[in-house]
Amino acid sequence: EVWRRYTAAGAPEVAAALASARGAQPAWAARPLRERVAILERFRRLLYEARQEMAGIVVRENGKATVEGLGEVMLVLDLCAFYGKAAPRELAPRTFRSASLAMFRKQITIAQEPVGVMGVIAPWNYPLMLAAGHVLPALVAGNAVLLKPSELTPTTAVRMVELLHAAGVPREVLHVLPGAGAAGAALVASGVDKVFFTGSEATGRLVSAECGRRMIPCVLELGGSDPAIVLEDAPLDVAADGIVFGRFYNAGQTCVAPKRVFVVDAVHDAFVREVSARVNALSVGAATSGAEVGPLIHPTQVAALAVQYDDALARGAQVAARSPVQKDEPGYFPPTVLTGVTEDMKVLREETFGPVLPIVRVRDADDAVRRANASTFGLSASIWTRDRRRGVAIAHRLQAGSVMLNDVLLAAGIAEVPHGGVKSSGMGRSHGVAGLLECVQSKAIITERFPGIRQLWWYRYTPDLARGFDAFLRLAHGRSPADRLAGLVGVRRLLRRK
Ligand code: NAD
Repeated sequence: EVWRRYTAAGAPEVAAALASARGAQPAWAARPLRERVAILERFRRLLYEARQEMAGIVVRENGKATVEGLGEVMLVLDLCAFYGKAAPRELAPRTFRSASLAMFRKQITIAQEPVGVMGVIAPWNYPLMLAAGHVLPALVAGNAVLLKPSELTPTTAVRMVELLHAAGVPREVLHVLPGAGAAGAALVASGVDKVFFTGSEATGRLVSAECGRRMIPCVLELGGSDPAIVLEDAPLDVAADGIVFGRFYNAGQTCVAPKRVFVVDAVHDAFVREVSARVNALSVGAATSGAEVGPLIHPTQVAALAVQYDDALARGAQVAARSPVQKDEPGYFPPTVLTGVTEDMKVLREETFGPVLPIVRVRDADDAVRRANASTFGLSASIWTRDRRRGVAIAHRLQAGSVMLNDVLLAAGIAEVPHGGVKSSGMGRSHGVAGLLECVQSKAIITERFPGIRQLWWYRYTPDLARGFDAFLRLAHGRSPADRLAGLVGVRRLLRRK
């Protein structure tokens, strides 16, 4: 169904947007931070008023349920409130003296300066929050931004940018560039100063390679295959509710979803029964019909998931539950629970981006941790237990950017929490203070408190100087009081040196 038409940006459009952004960015950065914070606050008000419209656009483009569209709006409102408070604190220059005795004359100021023009490339699965998650901190820190939304969900980004312009962000400071992969590639190669990329591992590797060639930094928020570990003392009904919700939210198209569930032997069968009952009861259909699980974004996603599903069955997995699809349309994949899943199956080795929940029986917690860490991904994870201390101890052993106890998805949904992964899940962080600091580079300004005095260690090098310098090291770092005293005597000699 044709709803809107956009002209894809090519290299000339990207170059024009970059020139405009480059010209406008210094004046944007020069404005007092409180003005940019005020604009962020105005955007928060405008988005709040437009929340139903905005969620409606997300639902229309992406196919998710309305409550899930509103969930994206909520995080973006939270991010505005958080960055409005955090930016003045975190971006303020810090002035201090060094602890080094040799540097006692120096005053050091660390300023946080904007990077310049940022390129933001966003995916389609959370088209509002994943674009805003980088755009908002970049703007408040004084950067200009070129945003390339997914070709599957451009309208969300276009509307968000309209609201930001209405809030007071100059048009030249923030550009939206619709288009497919070619527009994204043109953006990375355009001469922007840093790239924030959210999307698949495969595209992330291309973006990273190009950034490496150009010697510009990039933040990569890539795929995940998050483990959920269900221990013997887990509240099983809560675990089943949470894991079904986390896996099937947004029709299973979530980076931080529980995609590999490791259940200890003692509760495995009971857990499978609980989960299966819930999955069989899920309603599947269009968001407009009030269904819980909508269609996948594109028929190619259904086909890719079917390959992984068929592979699992061919290698011996069993279907424990498969929710009926009411709509006989090509975009749907029935929510499915697989048991008897083993490590050789694609559903464990690859990221599954749709409503399939693979369950693996494990011996104990150690076995679960070992298997959880066997993935090439390391985005997020969840642990289900009543024992908080034990859960936290296990969390420290997991290779992941975040770990939740007895919950799902929230690692990417709390404004204060830095979101990002390890291993093939990417590098860098969004959200939280860490996400703001990705939008600045620190500049050190070192001043001299006694400008009329030269440094003792400048030329000429003489035997006296080397001896005096050694005495200085003894004074500063000597192991005993006697050592340091001897150092002091040597230093006095050095001070008398002409
Ligand atoms: P994708 O990699 O296909 O596309 C992402 C974006 O990159 C799109 O805007 C696309 O047009 C653009 N693009 C495509 N080719 C490009 C190129 N050569 N150079 C530059 N840009 C290019 O990913 P997708 O299918 O849109 O998103 C799903 C993937 O994103 C999943 O793997 C999911 O796990 C991941 N994801 C990760 C996070 C996270 O925060 N870690 C969040 C959401 C989604």
